[in-house]
Amino acid sequence: MGQLMAQTLDAVDAAIARESGRAFAFLRRLVAAESVVGKEAQAQSVVAEELARLGFDVTHVSVPDSIANEPGAGVPQQSYAERPVVVGRRPGTGRSLLLNGHVDTVPPGPVEQWSSDPFEPVERDGWLVGRGAGDMKGGFAMATLAIGALLDAAPEALAGPLAFVSVIEEECTGNGALAAAEAGVLADAVLLPEPTGLELLLAGIGILWFQLAVDGAAVHAHQAGSGVNAVELALPLLSSLRTLEAEVNSGDGRYALNIGTFHGGDWQSSVPGSATIGVRMGFPADWTVEQAEARVTAAVEQAAASHAWLAEHPPRVAFNGFRAEGYSIAHDAPLVQAVAEAHRDVLGVDPGVMPGTATTDARYYVNRYRTPAVCYGPRVRNMHGVDEAVELGSIVTGARVLARFLARWLGGDR
Ligand SMILES: [Zn+2]
Repeated sequence: MGQLMAQTLDAVDAAIARESGRAFAFLRRLVAAESVVGKEAQAQSVVAEELARLGFDVTHVSVPDSIANEPGAGVPQQSYAERPVVVGRRPGTGRSLLLNGHVDTVPPGPVEQWSSDPFEPVERDGWLVGRGAGDMKGGFAMATLAIGALLDAAPEALAGPLAFVSVIEEECTGNGALAAAEAGVLADAVLLPEPTGLELLLAGIGILWFQLAVDGAAVHAHQAGSGVNAVELALPLLSSLRTLEAEVNSGDGRYALNIGTFHGGDWQSSVPGSATIGVRMGFPADWTVEQAEARVTAAVEQAAASHAWLAEHPPRVAFNGFRAEGYSIAHDAPLVQAVAEAHRDVLGVDPGVMPGTATTDARYYVNRYRTPAVCYGPRVRNMHGVDEAVELGSIVTGARVLARFLARWLGGDR
């Protein structure tokens, strides 16, 4: 076994085509179940139901608050009570595989800029539009479509143990995947159907989240001269962050520093007494998280030192989310080659390799558990933006690739 016969492959492809409508319906339910950080429960039950339908033994793993103490953990965003990770397992013998998907999405952004409600998925020209449709609920649909078709048409191909983990907080800490792995949800290899446009994603850069808080002196606007405006104090800090970004990117332009949030003041006729800036910073894979943190702290201290008020009232730096080190897996790793071969079978060409400019939960498996992990999934547009969408056809193509890969990896062919 392992290499499915051409006839069986035809039957698997036919099952994928036949079942694609059901997979898209699952995807719609999943997108409609809004799952920004802290609100993942409904989406997790949609996933659990689908895994159970496919014959997985479904359990929950809770994320302990102590996860924050693990090396590589992010800074928790809020209590983990009632926010479990969902795990589905199918027993088997031989080489094992874990599929990892994150059910959390980023917030929708300015809803009035969307052409439709971000949580009421709409199909347009072969694309499904909705927050999370691309990143990465479409990957859940691709994976379950492939598994369902194999169960239909070639169940013997799923001989090895197969698990599916549906995690939380991939978009801010990674603590869901880390907690599941610490609880033993691991395998010989991991595939994450993240939206890679049917390309291989083999690496991630370092990512650090931090928040700067600056204090001014609040007074009534009519005596503004005697106050110190915290919003205006934040402006030189913003430019110092751009200088830091340029330094981090000397020689390589992949490490974006994003000023993601800005809050200051609470009344138009008051001089604002405080402001906060929320930042995501990319950094090179050969830096430790501690090195990245030290660079941030030094940059802020330097900016404050040359400013009369800030020198006396230094801005506070809090590391408040991702503390992700970079990772990479070799292109010639057997896992990567097996996915590439399956891709070639379906598309006739080698899959492209995406440059890593962000991070994924794959870093834990690769760095901490020495387990190969690769991302391969559907084609998307406007990820994290307005009118995020997944190309439905790429879910079907991706499922055909994934089914072939699963048969090779789990089917006993060595
Ligand atoms: Zn993602």
